[in-house]
Amino acid sequence: MTEAASDRVIIFDTTLRDGEQSPGFSMNVVEKLEMARQLARLNVDVIEAGFPISSEEDFAAVSEVAKTVGQLESPPSICGLSRVGLGDIDRCWEAVKHAKKPRIHTFVATSDIHLKYKLRKSRAEVMKAAVEAVRHGRGYCDDVEFSPEDASRSDFDYMCEVLEAVIDAGARTINIPDTVGYAIPEEWVERISRIRERVKNSHQATLSVHCHNDLGQAVANSLIAIRAGARQIECTINGIGERAGNASLEEIVMAIRTRSDYFGVTTNVRTEEIYRTSKLLSHITGVHVQPNKAVVGENAFAHEAGIHQDGVLKAAITYEIMTPQSIGRASNELVLGKHSGRHAFRERLAELGFELEGEAFQEAFRRFKDLADAKKTIFNEDLEAIASDAVVRTDERFSVKEVTVLSGTFAKPTATVELWIDKQPVKATALGIGPVDAVFKAIAELTDTKSELERFHVNAITGGMDALGEVSVTVCEDGRRVIGNGADPDIIVASARAYVHALNKLEWHKRRHSVAEPKGI
Ligand SMILES: [Zn+2]
Repeated sequence: MTEAASDRVIIFDTTLRDGEQSPGFSMNVVEKLEMARQLARLNVDVIEAGFPISSEEDFAAVSEVAKTVGQLESPPSICGLSRVGLGDIDRCWEAVKHAKKPRIHTFVATSDIHLKYKLRKSRAEVMKAAVEAVRHGRGYCDDVEFSPEDASRSDFDYMCEVLEAVIDAGARTINIPDTVGYAIPEEWVERISRIRERVKNSHQATLSVHCHNDLGQAVANSLIAIRAGARQIECTINGIGERAGNASLEEIVMAIRTRSDYFGVTTNVRTEEIYRTSKLLSHITGVHVQPNKAVVGENAFAHEAGIHQDGVLKAAITYEIMTPQSIGRASNELVLGKHSGRHAFRERLAELGFELEGEAFQEAFRRFKDLADAKKTIFNEDLEAIASDAVVRTDERFSVKEVTVLSGTFAKPTATVELWIDKQPVKATALGIGPVDAVFKAIAELTDTKSELERFHVNAITGGMDALGEVSVTVCEDGRRVIGNGADPDIIVASARAYVHALNKLEWHKRRHSVAEPKGI
């Protein structure tokens, strides 16, 4: 049976490539690895882990994901993006080759606009380069994907000629990107259907779509393509991606599941992992989804709140087209107390999907004990915040050791901060217009940072007076904008952690050297 006739849709996640390359979402190798592990638990079919030629850091991230997640038992395919240059393909292969199921994804623009202004090449030259690239990739592995960039604005006949040629050259997947988010569902489904009719050998390849959200149509365009025979959808967690973002994985997967009567297809995704995956991404990047976001937003299942248990059962039939449990969103529950030991803590973390080792585990356990002392009830969300915090905090230059603050009606706010810098303890005291300002001034003095604080945001993770506070800060240096995140029952300590986290990210960017400027599809 060909893929077109199959009733399963391949979920290709590009959170770590398309999502990561958008402003404010860059992740370091440790963060990408943690996300990749969670994407494997979510059971996506393909993880596009990066664009290996674009930087040393991207190459390292793709290699590490291939060596670890790509070596799991029944792992996802690990994919790298590559332009059609043969050197690009070589570099991509060097990174993905460690995976049990490696994939090379190569692309070149086929629209006259891109040919004329960006590539400065003729249609014949682009056709030749595409075929050579696919053939070269097939020399390394069977699984080669090809994308004609800016497909929605490409001349249809020319694009189909390119697709036919690359399938002959061995492309197993042809992915049609709406790179600029220009397509409207009705015309898009027609275009995809016509590709199936027009490209004679198209049944030899899986048809895929990659839709951007500039006009808010990314999910609609992705779903409608299934009706036209697409059997792979490229998408991202929380819909992150270039500009207005990519198609949101959670919305696509839940639409396919909830409306299986309409689509008649399935995916391999373990939907119970959706909520955790969304939360982990928010925590790593410091960017939360809006409350009314479909599926994963804070209010997505809010009709449940305040309804008596007895009423929920009745209401579920009346109003609920999907349950919070189906995306792994359990109601708040007491999971651990202050007398819980390391073993129970580790087991609970494992149930939540975190496997912490060594330093990261010790740090998380210490923070858990502190929190259990300060707070009567510990919710899953609290544990997730602590665990994801510990995960992204390893291998960093600065860390917070002690924070002491004097403030109030009579005192001039004063902060004493002790940090570890390159494993050496250092200490400073500063005055400020408020306690947070004083803490930040002390940290700025110790780290000698030239950055500016642009945004400061406080969020209560769980309800009540004893809630764990989460602080997110945006810091800018030389035009580089990063987001730092910190969680603690004490909002001042959370602020210090968030600021230091942001400064660590800036340090990391200083080490990251870009060797090329490709932007991807
Ligand atoms: Zn894209």
